[in-house]
Amino acid sequence: VHLEKAHISIPLNKENVFLDSSPPISCRWKCDYCSAAFPTYDETASHEAECTQRGIINKLSEVQQAKKHKREEEGRRLRRNTNECRNEMLALFEIASNIQEITEQGVLKWLSYEKLKKIQRNNWRQFKLRMGIYFEHKIPAIIIGIRTVSKRFSAFAIDAPSHHPYHQHEKNLLNCATELDRIAAECRALYTTIPDLSALSVPAAVTIVIQRILESTIPALKESAKKIQDLIAFPEHRDDLGPFYSKRHAIKAALKLPKGSSARGDAIQDMVHMGLVPSQSSLYRAINDVEEEGNAIIDAKWTHGGTMRKKQEVFYDEETRRWEPTILLPVIIVDCNIRGKPILDKKCVERLFRPPALVSLNFYLWRKKTVEYWGARLYFSPKQFPTPVNLQDAGKASDKTFKKLKKYMLKWFEDAKSPVICNGGKPGSKKFVCCKKRKAENLLRNNERSEENYDCSICRFSVTVKWDRLGYYIPLYNHKQNCHVCNVKHTHDLS
Ligand SMILES: [Zn+2]
Ligand SMILES: [Zn+2]
Ligand SMILES: [Zn+2]
Ligand SMILES: [Zn+2]
Repeated sequence: VHLEKAHISIPLNKENVFLDSSPPISCRWKCDYCSAAFPTYDETASHEAECTQRGIINKLSEVQQAKKHKREEEGRRLRRNTNECRNEMLALFEIASNIQEITEQGVLKWLSYEKLKKIQRNNWRQFKLRMGIYFEHKIPAIIIGIRTVSKRFSAFAIDAPSHHPYHQHEKNLLNCATELDRIAAECRALYTTIPDLSALSVPAAVTIVIQRILESTIPALKESAKKIQDLIAFPEHRDDLGPFYSKRHAIKAALKLPKGSSARGDAIQDMVHMGLVPSQSSLYRAINDVEEEGNAIIDAKWTHGGTMRKKQEVFYDEETRRWEPTILLPVIIVDCNIRGKPILDKKCVERLFRPPALVSLNFYLWRKKTVEYWGARLYFSPKQFPTPVNLQDAGKASDKTFKKLKKYMLKWFEDAKSPVICNGGKPGSKKFVCCKKRKAENLLRNNERSEENYDCSICRFSVTVKWDRLGYYIPLYNHKQNCHVCNVKHTHDLS
């Protein structure tokens, strides 16, 4: 509190005593903080108490403002860096594919019995040379590649917040390199013990070596390839400002921290102010959808609501001249070549490891003539539904990921008013067929003949799911038999 006349201020002590011996005439009491004027000392003092309090809070929020500003700055830099890691991510895909290729095309081919019989007629030197190409040249080259790529991620380990998807990449990649080093060294120790000279039959020592390579080296290599593939993550593409975190990643980053904790609050503010998520409300809605509503985290693009589209979409079917419910699935479209193999160019790899959009299944079926989607495959997110390291285990009872996918598929189809059931399938694929068909077939078997039951029993609605090392997918076209694999048209009323 101070007394002021014109522009001269005179300090006062608490007892209202002027510190200056000659008090000015016609002065006003003023607040030290905001200079608001009051007629009496008491009024001024009580105002000043409040005012100071408010001021401290304002000061605090200034600190927060500064923090927010800093976060925004950091966010811009971080998003730019994330965007620039595109080539490193593609390199990781290449590395994982190369390791996979060594196991499939290289080592395994050379371990076939026919091949070995042929070798033994010459001598074992050739076999050792061949193994040397893989374990003394190719894998060491891959290790150098991994170490080089890992360096690019070191910036994320230091500068990026712990919720950034690349935060642990450097460490994880270096671990992969060490592991590959160990695998190669172990394998080298095995085959170098084989004597060079030819033998009349495959010697017992060789059989043991081959067994060890098949049982330990190859699975370990596959595991490494999988670990590297799991590190591939492209964020959701936005615009020139840089990408968003994938919705799945953002939700997981928040849910990792205890509900209501300041750590979670901080992480959320971080993501919001750094511009890594579309908005605070969409992130909260997405978290709420999982935590409160008990819905599963679906790897899909951010939507305005922050969650999956709730409204039923329809499309006009030219043939039946009816509006039919659209089957929406979060899948990635991967084009195939003329032999039905996926075309994995850079753009496609990028799309595969970005959050999928909701795709209308009805739109992509029966479109063989649409050149760009000729015989395409619809892949489910490899981030959410990774296939097992040993593909032979996929689709079996032990395959928990497929079980999860199956559960989701049933829900997605039911949401589209097309309930399906998994009808088993051939080895390497699973078939989903119309629920009503199965029911009608059972009724007919029990001699409950009716037109409706007959209509339903011939329903050809079916969707097939297959898998490869990239993920689970719906094939749209069978290139061997030249026919469409899926059919999402019911021959009966859906009601
Ligand atoms: Zn004062
Ligand atoms: Zn004031
Ligand atoms: Zn087709
Ligand atoms: Zn049907």
